[in-house]
Amino acid sequence: MTTVKDLLKTVDVEDGLTAEELFDRKSSVGMTYNDFLILPGFIDFPADAATCETHITRHYKIKTPFVSSPMDTVTETDMAISMALMGGLGVIHHNCTIEKQADMVRKVKKFENGFILDPLCMSPDNVVEDVINTKMKYGFCGIPITENGKMKSKLLGIVTSRDIDFLQSEADLKIKLKDVMTTDLVTAKDGISLHEANEILRKSKKGKLLIVDDEYRLVALLARSDLIKTRDFPNASTVHKSNQLLCAAAISTHPEDKKRVAALVEAGLDIVVIDSSQGNSSFQIDMIKFIKENYPHIDVIGGNVVTKEQARNLIEAGVDGLRIGMGSGSICITQEVMACGRPQGTAVYRVCQLARQFGIPCIADGGIQNVGHIVKAIALGASGVMMGGLLAGTTESPGEYFYHEGKKLKRYRGMGSLDAMDSGGAASKRYYSESDKIKVAQGVSGSVVDRGSVKKFLEYLELGLKHSMQDIGVKSLKQLWENVDNGTVRFEKRTSSAQIEGGVHGLYSYEKRLYQ
Ligand code: GDP
Ligand code: 5GP
Repeated sequence: MTTVKDLLKTVDVEDGLTAEELFDRKSSVGMTYNDFLILPGFIDFPADAATCETHITRHYKIKTPFVSSPMDTVTETDMAISMALMGGLGVIHHNCTIEKQADMVRKVKKFENGFILDPLCMSPDNVVEDVINTKMKYGFCGIPITENGKMKSKLLGIVTSRDIDFLQSEADLKIKLKDVMTTDLVTAKDGISLHEANEILRKSKKGKLLIVDDEYRLVALLARSDLIKTRDFPNASTVHKSNQLLCAAAISTHPEDKKRVAALVEAGLDIVVIDSSQGNSSFQIDMIKFIKENYPHIDVIGGNVVTKEQARNLIEAGVDGLRIGMGSGSICITQEVMACGRPQGTAVYRVCQLARQFGIPCIADGGIQNVGHIVKAIALGASGVMMGGLLAGTTESPGEYFYHEGKKLKRYRGMGSLDAMDSGGAASKRYYSESDKIKVAQGVSGSVVDRGSVKKFLEYLELGLKHSMQDIGVKSLKQLWENVDNGTVRFEKRTSSAQIEGGVHGLYSYEKRLYQ
């Protein structure tokens, strides 16, 4: 006799659509993230067992797939540092002078270290004012004093904030460092492991450990504050060899930006993002080739692209990553003005389908409004998501909060808005050429609500992503991509009434709080 159990084994449970069926080319419809849903799978693990590690470029892996957009109301030093500490990546904007952008990169690279192999040193004849200027420029003032003021010279002492805290007057600023430096030093011998050195530093309760060779010449420095950062941010995106934070910055496709690349590389940049709204151009291809030829150790993210053909050309030119999106950004009017672009769901799916064959990670850029959009972008093949509007209202984004009708807000503007183009910075070149008689806007300028610290917000996004992965039944992004590919993860289109049903509805009033 056939039991129910037997019967259950034979019933057809195939449901929903594969990704390929969802994006069926013959349907001639482009889809956004809101136009479909992912069907739930089987849960056999807790949400925190899911991992979100991903390659963000060919050579760099990060622990969370979050990237902040190179916009002047989103990513400067503070945002880039916080993104990297939380396991993501910040891309520093280029709507500023080369010097200012390089300075921001330098600050990110100097923020956290293992052994600092090139610490800023001074000589006994430098004065207090030099240390104060360094504090303003780099944010630290623990300066080793060596005989000739350089590395690999005999160590004489150290100047820290405690040595100069009360030296404020004109006369104080001119006091030589040999008269204020601390000479009671904690040192360790060159060759010590990072682990051993950290232990000495922890036990010594001092702020810095100075590493010296047999002749007491300075070879490296270790900062106590880095020990604390490593403890507080175990997922930080770091560069393996130096333990410094991973840093990316944007440039335009204009040939004069070759100088900008040189300055950024000199400042320690790891990843360069070529910022162009239509990336399939000879200008971009030339720039990619130039960077790969002259700075082969730098990873290049090209873009933006939304079609397979655009992606193919940039892959052929040598990119290590692609950025996908045209006209999907929250501040963006490109599709309206240029009639060019593509709904973001389709763009991500099609480009990733091609890029994956060549091992090129893709970042879904623009139009991310919630955790659900992040999950969908990744399910469609993206290795990471780039966010502008979602991060612009955080404490770490540039600009001050202001109040309007009782709401706490921050300014957020498109880099192709007239407002940004009028600011005269380099990023505006993404959207117009100097020869243009008038500027045609491709973005708007507005404001977004306060979101508190980006660190807390990213924690929420990461946890939300993990809960979603649990619902889908995948423990890693890799497993998600595999299961989408082999048809185990299924999708379904959503009608407009399904979208209304999926949001809050039928209430007289409600408060939408997303996390605590
Ligand atoms: P300080 O006491 O004012 O030097 O500052 P902290 O020790 O609190 O922080 C210094 C931070 O800057 C640490 O994360 C260091 O890794 C980083 N850093 C990067 N380069 C240097 C450098 O050349 N000298 C010093 N002192 N710190 C550096
Ligand atoms: P959001 O996360 O706010 O939806 O989108 C941010 C993305 O929009 C950026 O990463 C960038 O690719 C794009 N973007 C930024 N400024 C402009 C603009 O003025 N016009 C257009 N078309 N896109 C913009």
